[in-house]
Amino acid sequence: MSALAKNYNRRKISFKRGKGSFLYSTNGEKYLDFIQGIAVNSLGHTNSHLVKAINKQSKKLWHVSNAFIIPEGEKLAARLSKKSFADFVIFQNSGAEATEAAIKVARRYFYSIGQPKKNRILCVKNSFHGRTLATIYASGSKKMTEGFGPKVDGFDHFKFGDHISLKKSITDKTAAVMVETVMGEGGIKVIPDWCLKGLRKICNEKKILLILDEVQCGIGRSGNFFAFENSKIKPDIVPIAKGIGGGFPLGAVLMNKKVAAGMTIGSHGSTFGGNPLAMSVGNAVLDQIFKRGFLANVKKLSKYFHSELNKLKVEYPKIIKEVRGVGLLIGLQLHNDQTKFIQELLDNKLLTIRAAENVIRILPPLNVKKKEIKTAIKIIRKVCSTHK
Ligand SMILES: *Cc1c(COP(=O)(O)O)cnc(C)c1O
Repeated sequence: MSALAKNYNRRKISFKRGKGSFLYSTNGEKYLDFIQGIAVNSLGHTNSHLVKAINKQSKKLWHVSNAFIIPEGEKLAARLSKKSFADFVIFQNSGAEATEAAIKVARRYFYSIGQPKKNRILCVKNSFHGRTLATIYASGSKKMTEGFGPKVDGFDHFKFGDHISLKKSITDKTAAVMVETVMGEGGIKVIPDWCLKGLRKICNEKKILLILDEVQCGIGRSGNFFAFENSKIKPDIVPIAKGIGGGFPLGAVLMNKKVAAGMTIGSHGSTFGGNPLAMSVGNAVLDQIFKRGFLANVKKLSKYFHSELNKLKVEYPKIIKEVRGVGLLIGLQLHNDQTKFIQELLDNKLLTIRAAENVIRILPPLNVKKKEIKTAIKIIRKVCSTHK
């Protein structure tokens, strides 16, 4: 009997060790892990550079209060700003905290310029921004909010891709539009660059803020540091988490100086957010991702992966409906429910995870090797050939 609550549907496998793209189970099996903790282990399991960084910092200093200057955090914030639209950063410990902080920053900005009634956030119906009370209501998902009322007010919704409903839903009470640049849980749905451009234009015209949730798609996952970069637009606020910690719980909200002006002393805080241990790991992750050629390699490998999957789609058009995604954030959409297919991949020692719309999410580490992708393709092809 487990003393853990039953809120997860856990597979009956546990792991004793991980290295790079591979996981080793307690019963002696070796798995190719293309879940990586859901896009968290951006550099794979037990990356030697991260192991060194965390060991080194753990002997010096783990935690001090944000009542003091934390040099490791100053460094990480400066590096994130330098590589992006952002002027300022607030560190958190998770994605939901980062998106919730993003909502706070948006509301606080309008409050600080004397428009406190401009406080509603417009989101995509059935999106995913985390599991706190505010962020479940931001998702507009019936399943995630069921039984958790009273409803947290302040969120409106439009349908993904419905430009008319988006425009109609913006009122004089709207403070910001918040969308995932690539919908992760929702089925790996990419917002095309021209839509991002249009979205920025609408936000400018209506004088509202643009929040792009890059918790899953950011930090190199798309092949660019941020998934919105190809569109050339600048968002106002961007929450990040997952990949930036490489497996250590770490989140952040990035913002431009216009909105940061609202975040005055005492307006927000977090006990753990930005402690020296977390910051050292974050810096070590960036050491690798900012290395010359790292992101170019992600692009190159992902191009190969997508083209191989598209070949499979041609070979098995009755099974595979669409290959979705960008970079190493890949969705294999099936015509039918994907549960059995995911189990068959697992039986063949390839770990993948579901998303909405019959999608199988494939999330290798960003430093995956080409031969590991080849192995994955071989397994997927084998499962396609026997799948009923
Ligand atoms: C995972 C995720 C979150 C929530 O992150 P947690 O660390 O689980 O709180 C928020 N937004 C997006 C887009 C995510 O994928």
